[in-house]
Amino acid sequence: MERDPETLLHSVFGFEQFRPLQKQVVDHVMDGGDALVLMPTGGGKSLCYQIPAMARGGTGIVVSPLIALMDDQVAALVQSGVRAACLHSGLAAGEARAIEQELLTGELDLLYVAPERLLTPRMQELLQRAEPALFAIDEAHCVSQWGHDFRPEYLQLAVLGRQWPHVPRLALTATADPRTREEILERLEMPAAERFISSFDRPNIRYRVTEKKNARQQLKAFLENEQRGNAGIVYCLSRKKVDDTAEWLQGQGWEALPYHAGLSAEQRRRHQDRFLSGDAVIMVATIAFGMGIDKPDVRFVAHLDLPRSLEAYYQETGRAGRDGLPADAWLVYGLQDVILLRQMIESSGADAERRRVERQKLEDMLGFCELANCRRQALLAHFGETDHPPCGNCDTCQEPPETWDATDAARKALSCVWRTGQRFGVTHLVNVLQGADQERIRQLGHDRLSTWGIGEDMDTAQWRGVFRQLVAHGLLTVDPDGYGALRLTEQCRPVLRGETRLTLRLDRKPRKAGRRQRQPGEGLQDAASHELFEALRACRRRLAEEQGIPPYMVFHDSTLMEMVAARPETREALAAVNGVGEHKLERYGDEFLEAIREVITS
Ligand code: ADP
Ligand code: ZN
Repeated sequence: MERDPETLLHSVFGFEQFRPLQKQVVDHVMDGGDALVLMPTGGGKSLCYQIPAMARGGTGIVVSPLIALMDDQVAALVQSGVRAACLHSGLAAGEARAIEQELLTGELDLLYVAPERLLTPRMQELLQRAEPALFAIDEAHCVSQWGHDFRPEYLQLAVLGRQWPHVPRLALTATADPRTREEILERLEMPAAERFISSFDRPNIRYRVTEKKNARQQLKAFLENEQRGNAGIVYCLSRKKVDDTAEWLQGQGWEALPYHAGLSAEQRRRHQDRFLSGDAVIMVATIAFGMGIDKPDVRFVAHLDLPRSLEAYYQETGRAGRDGLPADAWLVYGLQDVILLRQMIESSGADAERRRVERQKLEDMLGFCELANCRRQALLAHFGETDHPPCGNCDTCQEPPETWDATDAARKALSCVWRTGQRFGVTHLVNVLQGADQERIRQLGHDRLSTWGIGEDMDTAQWRGVFRQLVAHGLLTVDPDGYGALRLTEQCRPVLRGETRLTLRLDRKPRKAGRRQRQPGEGLQDAASHELFEALRACRRRLAEEQGIPPYMVFHDSTLMEMVAARPETREALAAVNGVGEHKLERYGDEFLEAIREVITS
């Protein structure tokens, strides 16, 4: 039975219309074409294959690398009344057989399969007897041998096109530079696939970078002023810092949980489940956390340590705001981060070429931190999109940093590095510049240098800011074995000789914390709306708990917000809200209408 894609979009998912690129992909696949789909996280890739799978006869076969993700997607589809299932090693033999049977009798619209399973002779034989509607290869960058997520089994997926030349195939990913793109099509043997590539911009994420002063207090202020009641992730570099930070946050009254590779699998699973099912849980994690987390309502990603590259930063911050509602990417960084990362690179045991690449990535990251213009523009340009105007939704757009002519200060700082023998870290250098009267300085004879005391006009924080920015701009470099000792680079010569002038950012004075509560409070100005939103959240929590699923699978925050705005009092009115499909209306409609009625009439 063929069904119309638009009708399915309304009736099953309750959405008003396709996003522009979704529509093109769906039309193309309905016509039997192959497609490469590149969209950022939250761009809406899933509908591109889910809807054609339902609309075409037979079963859509989805290849996905992570069991947790598969289970999640299937559970969400079942919530919407879609006949979906998955086959992976986590299933008991009996369960798997029942699903295979459903596949053969055509009772499934979508079947999610792990790649290694799909390639078994048993599965191939089953598929010969079944009717595949399409093949969707999710996280298709896993075929790339150059990427971090390489999965050897993905290479064999090319067999699908040979076995089923007339069944459309889609390769989907959120991470692919032009080289990886071509590699995907080549390795999957999809030369004729049409490419559907959307911008990588995540306009709902606000980017913010601040100088690290007292990281914990800064985090505390950020959470208290802006993120009450929200779920988010705090990334730290080390396991120890993760544990300490989580404990500290707990002590401050937040529900915070640690996550890193040093915890048992059981603990990690428990913490992850809690994160997914709670409304306002903070996960404090190393980068081990995030892959395969589909939670749509992560409202913030905070970095207490500098990520090693812009790629890592973009991927990690990209976990915020999948649902399209406002979200924050917040980072504090200081010179100490640079020193630490440099030491890690140099002591990593990687070969010289690899270390050179890593150093370059770190420099790009630093450059991003010290920008005086739009951060989004710079990020997107780094990924090859050079035609974006300033965004208006990053810190540098919203509060353009002041700059100052730092040429003289820089020359003083650089010559102080030179005269002390390029063997000292920033604390000592600043002491010398400020003419500190210290035993150690006298012992080293640094009080007799021409640079001793020439920087009394600036305070310690200002000098540290100058040194940090000189490193970020590549005029100084951190000696990796010298306990943070700073050395001059080739690039500093023109400044030192007075041939060029240098403009630096003026470090911000810590602002008095203004209240800027973000989602989900934002847009709900009046108290009555707040009350209604909280009532709907409570209703959702109860329904989710009864079934042991995360609340967002019942309805997304955005759907609850629309209910608050529309205040539907009838089933018809509720059905018009985005995200309320027929199945969910049937299942949950009355409960939500009741919750709305209670608040309105009280
Ligand atoms: P991706 O897999 O690309 O990260 P998803 O497929 O998970 O993105 O979709 C991201 C979010 O956007 C989901 O919350 C989804 O429900 C929503 N969404 C997708 N397409 C539409 C649409 N046409 N209208 C409204 N919401 C949509
Ligand atoms: Zn901007």
